[in-house]
Amino acid sequence: MAEVLVLVDHLEGEIKKSTFELLTAARTLGEPSAVVVGPAGTAAKLADGLAEHGAEKIYVAETDDTAFLTPEVSVLAGLIESASPAAVLIGVSADGKEIAGRLAVRTNSAWLNDVVGLSADGVTHSVFGGAYVAEAKANTAHPVITLRPGSVEIEAAAGAGAQETVTVSVDGRNASVTSREPIVGGDRPELTEASVVVSGGRGVGSADDFGVVEGLADTLGAAVGASRAAVDSGYYPHQFQVGQTGKTVSPQLYIALGISGAIQHRAGMQTSKTIIAVNKDAEAPIFEIADFGVVGDLFTVAPQLKDEIAKRK
Ligand code: FAD
Repeated sequence: MAEVLVLVDHLEGEIKKSTFELLTAARTLGEPSAVVVGPAGTAAKLADGLAEHGAEKIYVAETDDTAFLTPEVSVLAGLIESASPAAVLIGVSADGKEIAGRLAVRTNSAWLNDVVGLSADGVTHSVFGGAYVAEAKANTAHPVITLRPGSVEIEAAAGAGAQETVTVSVDGRNASVTSREPIVGGDRPELTEASVVVSGGRGVGSADDFGVVEGLADTLGAAVGASRAAVDSGYYPHQFQVGQTGKTVSPQLYIALGISGAIQHRAGMQTSKTIIAVNKDAEAPIFEIADFGVVGDLFTVAPQLKDEIAKRK
C-alpha cells in the first residue's frame, strides 16, 4: 500500500490534535507515515502518540537549524523523491499553508488547500463561506493536501511506528525563527485545537466587556475567539480572530455572542459540530446556521448560562 506522508504539528513536546486528524484521514489513502521535523529529541516525545494513531512509519528529521520552515520543506521534498507517497497531508494553519505552497512549487505537485474531506476519489472543499461544496482531484502524483482542522473525527489505530532517521540538509534560508511561543489566553486551550470556542463580536461593545465572553469560556474550559469587527475595534487581539482572514475552527461547540454571522465569519466556524448563537436581532444571519439560538441581550444570557453551567459541574 502506498505511503501517505503526514507532517506532524507539535509544540513543546505535544502533538497537536490536527495531526491526529491527518493520521486518521491518511488511512483513507494509504499507509500513514508521520514526518517529525524539530530539534534533537523531539521524536522521542512524540513517537508513542503517533504510533497510537496509526503511524506505520515515523520519519525522524531532527535539526537545530532555525531556518524558517525550510527544514520542513526540504525534508518533505526529499521524502517525495525517495518514498513516492500517494499524498502529503499538512494541517491548515499559517505555517502549514506556507510549507504546502513552497513544497508544491518545489516538487511540481498539485496543492489542494483547505480541504474538509478526502477519499480515494478526490477531496471536498467548503467554499463561499460554506454555501457550496466543491469536489476536486489532483492531476499530479503526490499531491499536497492541507486539511482544515476539525474536519475529521479522530480515530485511534495501532501503527508500527517504525522510526527512520532522515538527514536534514537545509538549502536556502529567507528567515530564521528566533522564538516559538504558544499563543494562548492564560490557561485556555489554543483556538484551533479547542473542542469548545466562545466568540464575541461587535455586540460585546468594548474590550472591558469581553470579560463576559472570557467568563463563559472559562466555565466551559473553552478557547476565546472574536469576529473581525471586534478585533478591528480593539476589543480583542488579532490572533483570536475567527473567519476568512482569521483562524478556521471546527470545535464540538461554538458559541457566538453578539456576532451577526457575516459570510466571512461563517467561513471560519461553520463546520463546528454544534453552533449556539446569542443575538438581540432575531433576523441576524447567524441564526441561519445556528443549531440553537437565543434572541436576547448577551449581557443577560451569557452570565445566566455561565451560572447554570457552573451549578451543574
Ligand atoms: P456586526 O456585523 O456589527 O454584528 C454585531 C451583532 O451583534 C449584530 O447582529 C447585533 O444585533 C448584535 N448585538 C449587538 N449588541 C448585542 C447585545 N447586547 N446582545 C446580543 N447581540 C448584540 N469577519 C470576521 O469575523 N472574520 C473574518 O475573518 C473576516 N474577514 C473578512 C474579509 C474580508 C475580505 C471582508 C470584506 C470582511 C471580513 N470580515 C470578517 C468582516 C465581516 O464582513 C463582518 O463585518 C464581521 O464579521 C462583522 O462582525 P460582527 O458580527 O461582530 O459585527
